[in-house]
Amino acid sequence: MRIRITKNIQYGNVCDVSVRSSKNQAEVSFSASPQGGPESLWFCFRITAINKIKRIKIVLKHPYNMLMGGCELSNILPVIRKDKGNWQRIERNYEFLALPDGRYEISWILNNPGKINEISLCYPYGAPEIETLVKESKGYWKKDTIGVSTENRPMIRLSNDYSFPDSKKPGIYIVARQHSGETPGSLVLDGFLRYLSEIRNEESIVWAVPLVNIDGIEKGYYGKDNYPIDVNRAWGNPSMRHETLVIQRDINRWKERCTPILGIDFHAPGGAQGDGIYFFLQKEKSAFMNKERSLINIIEKKIGKTYMAKQCAVVAQYRERWNGLTFSQYCRKYINIPGLCVEIPYAFCGKNLLTQKKYQEIGKKIACAIIETLK
Ligand SMILES: [Zn+2]
Repeated sequence: MRIRITKNIQYGNVCDVSVRSSKNQAEVSFSASPQGGPESLWFCFRITAINKIKRIKIVLKHPYNMLMGGCELSNILPVIRKDKGNWQRIERNYEFLALPDGRYEISWILNNPGKINEISLCYPYGAPEIETLVKESKGYWKKDTIGVSTENRPMIRLSNDYSFPDSKKPGIYIVARQHSGETPGSLVLDGFLRYLSEIRNEESIVWAVPLVNIDGIEKGYYGKDNYPIDVNRAWGNPSMRHETLVIQRDINRWKERCTPILGIDFHAPGGAQGDGIYFFLQKEKSAFMNKERSLINIIEKKIGKTYMAKQCAVVAQYRERWNGLTFSQYCRKYINIPGLCVEIPYAFCGKNLLTQKKYQEIGKKIACAIIETLK
């Protein structure tokens, strides 16, 4: 029996691969590649089974070196796509294997694999999905290129209205995927943007850069804390990356065409964090703390407690590699508006498994909550 593994697929990331196979079963062991960064988490690759087999055991090596958030590893549940069908969660048959020297591996069984099987940490999301979103909005979302990335890829910005200088309409500016592997942030933003197009919201000026770290996305990088500097620590003035420079100049255009009221930044937390959705609060006191807390409360009520973390507004406690400003700090300091930073888990909110539809529903609820506060 022959099994082929490749990372030469869209958003591909895999390394350190080994394959064992018997008549009916194969075992594929792999690591997530750090791709030159200090952290690893994102993986996405293809297993081609030349002959029909009954099952493939998929073994993740070195999970102790991945950014898991110090949580229960059974909270990870990759997605699988057989023979170009739809992406689905893999069956929940997680196993933990302790090795004699203290290392460990985790695995899942893929029953009845197809000929082509793609496996990914979470549902992939990129430029084709943005294209679909724009098309299905029937003219509501306009798509423009506001500049290029470090490696010359187009940086896309969506807008519901170009508006005009000195417009008094409230404005919201949104970013996602500063950390390129954090697709749950995109899946929720997708629902957020679809909701606004469904209700044909014209009361607010909403501009969004949905794929900020487009180089990392296309190359299958996890992209958290990556060199030369984490995108979400490059928001100082002057900016420390070309991507943030491009977006800052776009924010300047936007803020001339609306009354800025809010910035939102969509992320995903550590790979095994499965308590629920939560927001990061700023460590230092700011004039916007109360406004941000009140918005988070309204969003929490709308989403419902089952999908929110018990502590849904937290001050970051982890030690940071980079000292620069985040997007939300930039919003507060330079645009004079509250900035929300939301973390969406990769698989579970407590016992609730997140599917593409569920992510979209959460996004719709966040949008609905925010639009209601504008009335
Ligand atoms: Zn992030």
